[in-house]
Amino acid sequence: MGLGLGMTANGAATRRRLFLRTWGCQMNVYDSGRMADVLAPLGYAPVDAPEGADMVILNTCHIREKASEKLFSELGRLREMKREREAAGAGMVLAVAGCVAQAEGAEITRRAPWVDIVLGPQTYHRLPEMVARASRAAGAVIETEMPVEQKFDHLPEGAASQGITAFLTVQEGCDKFCSFCVVPYTRGAEYSRPAAAVLAEARRLVAAGAREITLLGQNVNAYHGEGPGGRVWGLGRLLRALAEIPDLLRLRYTTSHPRDMDEDLIAAHRDVPALMPYLHLPVQSGSDRVLAAMNRGHTAAEFLAVVERLREARPDLALSSDFITGHPGETAADFAQTMALVERVGFAGAYSFKYSPRPGTPAAGAPLQVPEAEKDARLQALQALLREQQEAFNRSRIGLTMPVLLTGPGRHPGQVAGRSPWLQPVHLLGPAALIGREVPVRILAAHPNSLSGLLLAEDAPSPSLRAEEPAPA
Ligand code: SF4
Repeated sequence: MGLGLGMTANGAATRRRLFLRTWGCQMNVYDSGRMADVLAPLGYAPVDAPEGADMVILNTCHIREKASEKLFSELGRLREMKREREAAGAGMVLAVAGCVAQAEGAEITRRAPWVDIVLGPQTYHRLPEMVARASRAAGAVIETEMPVEQKFDHLPEGAASQGITAFLTVQEGCDKFCSFCVVPYTRGAEYSRPAAAVLAEARRLVAAGAREITLLGQNVNAYHGEGPGGRVWGLGRLLRALAEIPDLLRLRYTTSHPRDMDEDLIAAHRDVPALMPYLHLPVQSGSDRVLAAMNRGHTAAEFLAVVERLREARPDLALSSDFITGHPGETAADFAQTMALVERVGFAGAYSFKYSPRPGTPAAGAPLQVPEAEKDARLQALQALLREQQEAFNRSRIGLTMPVLLTGPGRHPGQVAGRSPWLQPVHLLGPAALIGREVPVRILAAHPNSLSGLLLAEDAPSPSLRAEEPAPA
């Protein structure tokens, strides 16, 4: 099959092209980076297109609609490329990773027997061994076990080159079993990395140029990692320790569950200036009936109380959230309660989807499925309101002076681009030499998804992260 690892005479791996396609969440983006790290010692270097690649990995996401259909149509295209390469005497290792691989491994090898490797999210550290086995095996290599601890123990100390903004996984898996979600089945039970391992990786990222780190976890604020002396650290404690790393200017974390927003974490929003005033806190619905059917474990009032406590701790905090319209059993009155909650909170951003059944989840077979047209109509109404709120939030930044972390060149000559404390892209004129620095910027204009501003002299009075205006209530 031509899949074996190439070695030069002195034993070093020859250069091989690796194309990684990533769907879905930031956790998948992070995982793709780690898979590239694991394969680098074997000579695999990332390329931008599958044409001519020696190995293609599709890192899949089960949350998105029609995830399997998209995967199989992509696999159909890759089959042709693989055939052409094999006809030319070269090979292509084709691997499917991520949550669709975990959930539908057998189906993938049945429908697409040209796939060489199917690997679940907890087995990425074994990828080199799987590549070697794929070169010998007649059929596909399937690895979809879920020993999370092992994965973190065996991943290399890489991931040091993500750039000015970086992701760092601190927690994986979920024990909450929301009715619509596959994560507990595909990623397994909650697991938190020890604090020392997280701090060491953060230091490496900062040494390699990171100035902003986003901590990742499917349930990141359920973090309960082992701290010094065997004590358990929550996320608040971890954030405080990370904030002490010199040159690490900004911290964020995602994705949170309202139930795990404990007092120490809320206090960290008050006490840790590096913790940015923007929080993604999924609520999914404003109806207690639907929240119960979703098995979310909290009511709308409890969510609002968490929001209030967070805003007391950090008055300039802006929120984003996730919403699902048309969960089985959702009535027009339930949906009206979602709209009321959105009006009341005022979100600076949001992801919203209409409910779509995920095989194997409890809601997929539930009675009272909402007709497609109704789900659509509710989604349109919700998205219109959320869009309005996002634009209003962006406009509310006009005239403020804020620190912007410059992350790269802008689209036009002389422009640089960066991020506001509220994760908005900001464009401004400025020298490329400032990239990687946090600079004071006065915001002049707001667009639906970004801001533009004016670079102020760096000796201008130090701008406060606590903007004069709170987020819209
Ligand atoms: S808490 Fe989040 S990851 Fe866990 S089951 Fe619910 S939606 Fe999925």
